[in-house]
Amino acid sequence: MRTILQPKSKFLKVICSKCKNEQIIFNKPAMKVFCLVCGAELAENFGGKAKIKAKVLKTFE
Ligand SMILES: [Zn+2]
Repeated sequence: MRTILQPKSKFLKVICSKCKNEQIIFNKPAMKVFCLVCGAELAENFGGKAKIKAKVLKTFE
């Protein structure tokens, strides 16, 4: 019998809408996540749920 890990945490590959920088972010950020290149807001925690503001390219589990 296998133990199935709960896919609670995911990582998202997003692309910044301003500078097209690709960045890996956590899908449940504890605080706001900013683009490392231009400083645009990519995601924020919105009452326990992440609000992703950038375009998601890929999801990693
Ligand atoms: Zn950017």
